[in-house]
Amino acid sequence: MIEDKNPKRTPLSELGEFKLIEHLTEHFKIEQKSTIKGIGDDAAVLSYGKKQIVVTTDLLVEGVHFDLSYVPLKHLGYKAVMVNLSDVYAMNAKATQITVSIAVSNRFPLEALEELYAGISTAAKLYNVDVVGGDTTSSTSGLIISITAIGEVEKGNEVLRSGAKPNDLLVVTGDIGGAYMGLQVLEREKEVFKVNPNSQPDLSMYTYIVERQLKPEARKDIVELLKQLDVKPTSMIDISDGLSSEVIHLCKQSKVGVDVYENKIPLDPQVISTCEEFNIDSTTVALNGGEDYELLMTISQEDFPKIKGNPNLTVIGYMTEEERGMHLVTRAEEKIPIIAKGWNALND
Ligand code: ADP
Ligand code: MG
Repeated sequence: MIEDKNPKRTPLSELGEFKLIEHLTEHFKIEQKSTIKGIGDDAAVLSYGKKQIVVTTDLLVEGVHFDLSYVPLKHLGYKAVMVNLSDVYAMNAKATQITVSIAVSNRFPLEALEELYAGISTAAKLYNVDVVGGDTTSSTSGLIISITAIGEVEKGNEVLRSGAKPNDLLVVTGDIGGAYMGLQVLEREKEVFKVNPNSQPDLSMYTYIVERQLKPEARKDIVELLKQLDVKPTSMIDISDGLSSEVIHLCKQSKVGVDVYENKIPLDPQVISTCEEFNIDSTTVALNGGEDYELLMTISQEDFPKIKGNPNLTVIGYMTEEERGMHLVTRAEEKIPIIAKGWNALND
């Protein structure tokens, strides 16, 4: 045992995930000329001559990130890849390779892992990335999956979280809140099943949101679309933790403020109707839900004509001077401060 020289014991919940990362990594200095961007973005950016590489990694833990009682292993494999590719696309890069590491217990037969890998394989084929390595080890506490994704982006084309300027437009892709409401439906069905194991859930009213939860798609198409439209966002991040948390990341790293308009936030009709059914406010879900894997970006006003009317891109607000702060402008035209209540694994 290494002797514990520091008897102080600070509970991790006191910091939360983001402060913990900051605390643990604040002393790391960049020494390599090839490191263009280190810790603090969706992916690191490394430069080798004309080539720039992006690298990102994510860890999924059974019981924390997924519940195998309603997540099919094939979907889990697919989603594990998407979570990582999403971070590559958030850098405006093209994903090229992944490595896959797993820790498994004896509880899993070979056939279960084959299912997991069928999902990984489908995702890799569809998104055109090679599976180039990984690691396999045993676990005493369920399944753990760690995927690293590698991508490439031409020098100068990378988009960081830190480039937003006052007056830039805040733009979101697709619609949000679906993955969270899909999870609510699945959790409810799980409870019903516990009481009555013979019950067959009827999910036909919830197909879109359940699919958003179980089988999200990373927005590879958006990186291609932006290129086609000749738009380079000034900043970008993927929506893994919920809109409010990602907006705060962009604002803090870009040193700007924001006004987000509640009535502009794109919601699918199924999200709205399911929110009504569950008696949850749909804006709260959009702001704090997470796992949508859409992209949130800022673009210069000059580029507005290029994106105007595009069904994939919705302007939901604009950036302001930092001193103005971060606000949601409600339907009643009230301004309320945006705070991060995002998904916080450490507080769950
Ligand atoms: P994302 O939600 O996009 O995956 P995270 O919030 O997980 O991003 O991470 C933010 C940044 O902190 C990233 O640059 C990531 O590589 C880095 N990071 C996260 N955890 C650690 C860690 N334990 N040690 C070093 N860097 C970390
Ligand atoms: Mg990210």
